[in-house]
Amino acid sequence: MMFFASDNGGPVHPSVIEALTEANEGYTGGYGADDVTARAVAAVREVFEAPEAAVYFVATGTAANALALATYAQPFHTVFCTDTAHIHEDECNAPEFYTGGAKLTLVPTTDGRMTAEDLRRVIAGEETRGVHGPQRGPVSITQITERGTIYALDDLRGLCAVAKEYDLPVHLDGARFANALVELGCSSAEMTWKAGVDVVSFGGTKNGLMGAEAVVFFDPEKAWEFELRRKRGGHLFSKQRYLAAQFLPYLEGGRWLDLARAANASRQRLQDAMEGMNDITFAYAPSGNMMFPTMRVADHRRLFDAGAYYYMWDGDLDGAAEDDRLTARLVCDWSMSDAALDKFLTVLRG
Ligand SMILES: *Cc1c(COP(=O)(O)O)cnc(C)c1O
Repeated sequence: MMFFASDNGGPVHPSVIEALTEANEGYTGGYGADDVTARAVAAVREVFEAPEAAVYFVATGTAANALALATYAQPFHTVFCTDTAHIHEDECNAPEFYTGGAKLTLVPTTDGRMTAEDLRRVIAGEETRGVHGPQRGPVSITQITERGTIYALDDLRGLCAVAKEYDLPVHLDGARFANALVELGCSSAEMTWKAGVDVVSFGGTKNGLMGAEAVVFFDPEKAWEFELRRKRGGHLFSKQRYLAAQFLPYLEGGRWLDLARAANASRQRLQDAMEGMNDITFAYAPSGNMMFPTMRVADHRRLFDAGAYYYMWDGDLDGAAEDDRLTARLVCDWSMSDAALDKFLTVLRG
């Protein structure tokens, strides 16, 4: 199966299914008052070298982002994010809903990454109309970005520094946190609180979990408010051990990093082979587990006819001329087989 549509289409890692079966014994307290949740919280704190961090589990990245932002944004605030941010394009206004009406102010990008200068300019442009306009609220950064590009640690520090100039909290959308981390080769602490991040949506689902994300507050001051918002928003799971249990095998022995390395290696392998093949170019600098190759329509047609599955990014194949060039979005998850990658490349070669 040549499946490159998203990293949520693949299987759950078998160790996670085993952990769920193991957790499925006997009776525990509900709503997080159980030993599995306590162990998972401890494991997340250890990963972030943050013994004081407040750690919560939710089932979707949208809930993680929207609830985290709501905890830092008043209804009269605006959240600063890029024009390609998931919270802007793909969450059906959940951030606006959960914050009670805060708006988003977009920072323009060409490849999903904002620059510190653009962020500063856009922040400076808000809160200029006194009581009449939106007040400045949190900055939200996605790593790796929705275009598969990555912020170097210095870039991240620079963005956080701009937020701090204005005394604004920083949220990191880490739906693909692990893919970024292994690419940068830094620690989770360096990519978050040491750079100036206050709260992170620590993704798991796209990297082998069944449906669990952690929200990590490095300053527990906001913990209780988050708990209230999570309950009110319908995301406090009564059988919470089944969310938490997924994180135990995931974080154990660095398995989550191995899974991300496998996904990134699959992307790298495709990229290496595609560079110089059939005049293929890349719309954005590939990194992590995602890339956007621009290919001839004939190449796309051959791949789809052979059963490849991925999203067209900038146009429809229907009605396109054979020698037109269109961009695809290819995403690799941890489970990609060599056979699938080889088949894809063989078909593409023609
Ligand atoms: C997938 C994704 C999310 C989370 O999406 P859900 O479908 O709500 O789990 C958040 N941010 C980014 C950048 C994503 O790619």
